[in-house]
Amino acid sequence: MLDSLTPDQQALDEAIGRICTNFGDQYWLERDTDGNYPEDFVDAIASGGWLGIAMPKAHGGAGLGITEAAFMMRRIAQSGGGFAAASSIHINIFGPHPIVKYGTPEQQERMLPPLIDGRDRTCFGVTEPNAGLDTGGIETRAEWDGRNYVVYGQKLWTSTAQRANKIMLLARTRAKDTVAKSTDGLSLFYTNLDREHVEIHEIAKMGRKAVDSNALFIDGLKIPPEDLIGKEGKGFRYLLDGLNPERVLIGAEAVGLGRAALAKAVDYAREREVFNRPIGQNQAIQHPLAEAWAELEAANLMVVKGARLYDAGEACGAEANAGKYLAAEAAHKACERAVLTLGGMGYAREYHVERYLRESYIARIAPVSREMILNFIAERVLELPRSY
Ligand SMILES: Cc1cc2nc3c(=O)[nH]c(=O)nc-3n(C[C@H](O)[C@H](O)[C@H](O)COP(=O)(O)OP(=O)(O)OC[C@H]3O[C@@H](n4cnc5c(N)ncnc54)[C@H](O)[C@@H]3O)c2cc1C
Repeated sequence: MLDSLTPDQQALDEAIGRICTNFGDQYWLERDTDGNYPEDFVDAIASGGWLGIAMPKAHGGAGLGITEAAFMMRRIAQSGGGFAAASSIHINIFGPHPIVKYGTPEQQERMLPPLIDGRDRTCFGVTEPNAGLDTGGIETRAEWDGRNYVVYGQKLWTSTAQRANKIMLLARTRAKDTVAKSTDGLSLFYTNLDREHVEIHEIAKMGRKAVDSNALFIDGLKIPPEDLIGKEGKGFRYLLDGLNPERVLIGAEAVGLGRAALAKAVDYAREREVFNRPIGQNQAIQHPLAEAWAELEAANLMVVKGARLYDAGEACGAEANAGKYLAAEAAHKACERAVLTLGGMGYAREYHVERYLRESYIARIAPVSREMILNFIAERVLELPRSY
């Protein structure tokens, strides 16, 4: 069975579930209200050693696959933590991937253990105001001054930068008009987020208030050459390598969120009586929930297929993208149906489903939008002409 868990995976799922029971819906509602970072949740996950779930054993990780990481993230989101919980640790799970794959042994030894045990917190600076999804259009530049790279530019939406002491940063090291392709000449750095040279402004946003997203203004950030990951100018290629696992994880998180919403809706539909009958006895309530279940579980299978292919070292672009797309849409629909099932109470914060609905948009937009996923499938899977 595609989604059957091995005994070890089952044990992992249960262990994560046990941690999450200490951080129930009420905890996440409070964080969504006060905007405080879920520090104690992150500490609990870190102290269990789970941040390194997919990191090599040689550096203190568990050496497991993206499949196990996806099961973990699904369980975390499904616990009611949704994207607030998942995003508070998401970057630690997949972000160090370029270091694992392209870092020198010295970099791996220096960079990975503190990320795995939670001493270092990183953020991920790719998106820019003038580039959007067209990563080749980024303008942040890293200039070599003979001793260091010196960075100037802006990043947008950089999540967790308020807390991070490190940043994985994509910057241009060769001007766009001097390279063959716009995505050439970009370099990837993992370095200190030096607040002397980086102004960080939090963006007020629709949901997931506990996990900040930010605008970064970088002015003269010095990066020593030993913090360059891999070869200069190849940063975009390195990032591409991490895209599929990230899509798998976001897909798994979306499935978890959708399942949480569906569970709330079903409980309410069973208990709430109107016209002397449970509202769940009405097909107009039942069918959308049944549809949500079917779509979530189908999406889950595609997410897991993407994860398994990735772990087997096989091509997984189509499945990772399709899984992320399907899961995001299914989660959004499940959350919307949950709000409507609860009627007026669906709109009340204390019933949680409106929080889930707000968070469900994240998976539809980031890290890649639904439109760009459909572009990818049309072009790469269906071999239709590129549309942009
Ligand atoms: C909560 C949140 C957290 C985030 N965290 C991070 C982070 O930590 N680090 C980071 O680097 N980024 C982060 N992002 C940014 C995110 O990855 C981007 O928002 C996303 O990639 C979309 O880019 P954009 O917002 O610039 O949209 P744009 O590129 O401006 O696109 C806007 C719309 O136009 C559509 N569009 C554009 N071109 C095409 C086309 N050719 N065909 C069809 N449709 C098209 C898009 O699909 C989209 O609907 C985060 C975003 C959010 C909302």
